[in-house]
Amino acid sequence: MKSSIDPVQNLAELITCPSITPAEEGALTVLEAMLTPLGFSVERPTFREDDTPDVENLYARRSGNGPHLMFAGHTDVVPVGDEAAWTYPPFSASIHNDEMYGRGAVDMKGGIACFVAAVGRHLEKRGGLNGSISFVITGDEEGPSINGTRKLLEWAKAKGESWDAAVVGEPTNPEKLGDMMKIGRRGSLSGTIVVSGVQGHVAYPHLADNPIRGLVTLVESLLYPAFDTGTKDFQATNLEITTIDVGNPAVNVIPAKATATFNIRFNDTWTDETLMAEIHNRLDKASGRRKLRPNKKAPVNYELTWRDRVSHVFLTHDEKLIGTLTSAVEATTGKRPQLSTSGGTSDARFIKDYCPVVEFGLVGKTMHMVDERVAIADLETLTQIYERFIADFFA
Ligand SMILES: [Zn+2]
Repeated sequence: MKSSIDPVQNLAELITCPSITPAEEGALTVLEAMLTPLGFSVERPTFREDDTPDVENLYARRSGNGPHLMFAGHTDVVPVGDEAAWTYPPFSASIHNDEMYGRGAVDMKGGIACFVAAVGRHLEKRGGLNGSISFVITGDEEGPSINGTRKLLEWAKAKGESWDAAVVGEPTNPEKLGDMMKIGRRGSLSGTIVVSGVQGHVAYPHLADNPIRGLVTLVESLLYPAFDTGTKDFQATNLEITTIDVGNPAVNVIPAKATATFNIRFNDTWTDETLMAEIHNRLDKASGRRKLRPNKKAPVNYELTWRDRVSHVFLTHDEKLIGTLTSAVEATTGKRPQLSTSGGTSDARFIKDYCPVVEFGLVGKTMHMVDERVAIADLETLTQIYERFIADFFA
């Protein structure tokens, strides 16, 4: 049991496995070896789907009488980028000036290393646990996220598992440990608009119908007016046009087709359905506008397709979970964390369908960058926060 209570040792073991998504490369084996001596029973299901890589995942539970707490995260990491640009090799776990370098140091092998250490210390001090803890760890968070947390939760539920609360160990602090906890996430939705016109000679526009005029009309209707001004818990909903494509090499040809793709990050003013309806509505209205198409009688001929999987917006309301973690952070760091819903999506979007979920981990400043690194002091502090949280949660 000894080594598992040291987060620095735990993290070094995890970083030295080059588990670039979706490769396992020993990272789950190392984690299993930490958890088994702590009394966890470990399972490692592999999930498959056409056109995606097979992904190995880990579910480990230590059972007891009382509530069931989930700790969720991922052992896969993003690629290292230009390896020569790293000051120390990305899988060496080198320590310099009280910082450990390595891909995954903060996102998020560090969070896992600390939670394992916290559980180990709790068990060592108290000799047991008034409840159950499960590790829900995937190797598919930085990739397509198809064979990861979503399927792992379905798989566990099918075996009869259920949880009372969850903590995700993603790096949530922008500058210093204690800055920020995430209690929800915005939703995300993407779509592509294809406008069909009539190809022709630029000198004879009355014989053609330039789809770019139509596309610009439609796109403007999505950019203005704003969808909302934000809510108590969320930033304003924001839509960005991510690409406009025509692919027309000729200067004297009016093209036949023009395409635009957008992504919208939305708050709890909307649901997927109401937002999709609003977008359809705006496009339909705009399609009849004549400003850019004064001589055209027919409305803009367009088709809208929704892309990818929708991420639903969510907000956690569990005061006990939020309060217990907030107190643990404040007692350890002296700072009361801001409760935020900012940033991109995370696997919490899958967990929220099973139990209340909050996110708190390391400082994210260097995540996905060259020279990703974590302060050794932060590893110890986060371990103490988690240990205190575990003690209070099961008290
Ligand atoms: Zn992450």
